Amino acid sequence: MQNKVLLIYTGGTIGMNRNPLTGALEPFDFEHLLNNVPELKQFDTQIATYQFNPPIDSSDMSPRLWTDLSHVIADNYDQYDGFVVLHGTDTMAYTASALSYMLENLTKPVIFTGSQLPIGQLRTDGKENLITSIEIAMSKDENGRARVPEVGIYFGGHLLRGNRTTKQSAEEFNAFESFNYPHLVEAGVNIIYHNDRILKPDFNKPMKPHFRLDNNVIIFSLFPGVREDLIRHIIHTPNLKSIVMRTFGSGNAPQNPWLLKALKEGTQNGKVIVNISQCMQGAVEMSRYDTGFHLQEAGVVSGYDSTVESAVTKLMFLQSHYNDPDKVREMMKQSIRGEISVVQ
Ligand code: ASP
Repeated sequence: MQNKVLLIYTGGTIGMNRNPLTGALEPFDFEHLLNNVPELKQFDTQIATYQFNPPIDSSDMSPRLWTDLSHVIADNYDQYDGFVVLHGTDTMAYTASALSYMLENLTKPVIFTGSQLPIGQLRTDGKENLITSIEIAMSKDENGRARVPEVGIYFGGHLLRGNRTTKQSAEEFNAFESFNYPHLVEAGVNIIYHNDRILKPDFNKPMKPHFRLDNNVIIFSLFPGVREDLIRHIIHTPNLKSIVMRTFGSGNAPQNPWLLKALKEGTQNGKVIVNISQCMQGAVEMSRYDTGFHLQEAGVVSGYDSTVESAVTKLMFLQSHYNDPDKVREMMKQSIRGEISVVQ
């Protein structure tokens, strides 16, 4: 039977066109994009399309649109072998992370891609990204199961785990990297699947979609000179449920007594405070230095080697499911979709 892939266009540079009056890039319709890739007709796969209306620059992405996307995939799940989501690069890592949590026990590929140059431009990177993403989305193993039953980001020759990925460049075609997890697939002359790095769902169980997110969360970075009044203001914000705190190195913070006191008050009031390093590579190890150890004592939880994008969307997902902050803290310490490196 012929494979079927659903191509979902949310917007982003890949489908944009230059406004003749302002010269700025703006979202354009899907037909224009497809007309620029006649190669799609060569696939021995049925490619159906779904378009977000209106298509958006991904800077306008939101939890509501993540819920819409989760619905589109859930509603079409049984009819297709895989999904390719065209998305702007700016917030692609957030959307891919959110969807990885919302699609539990995913047994089919959901491959995000986009481009740095619009598909209508001569030097576009969009064609290769799109064509290889479709190839990966329809790829099956010898048992007829999807080779990549994961939410991934394909860009510049590599497939990365979505919830491990960060946008690293606004300039290079190689726009993304997963600093703490190796590439899932390398696409050179041959497409090489690293099966040992790819998640193994239970193929006998159905995929379980989720549609709820709770965005009462904030991200803040520590820096030398950070002010007490501002930090206190954030920590005591009434509806705020959780904080992604970006710390130094292996999870260290200034040892000011007021900071530790404020963090302790926050955790005692039920706020979940997650420690994520400002470094791209490596993990939080709060017991390594005294400056990290005190954070642990204040009730701050380790984010291990999580990306910021993954931590913030995981919190949105967890706090929409659990009212108990202790349960959220416990789940933050576990890898639920391969997002952190912890021994279970
Ligand atoms: N601003 C664009 C977006 O994220 C950039 C891109 O697509 O690469 O939608």
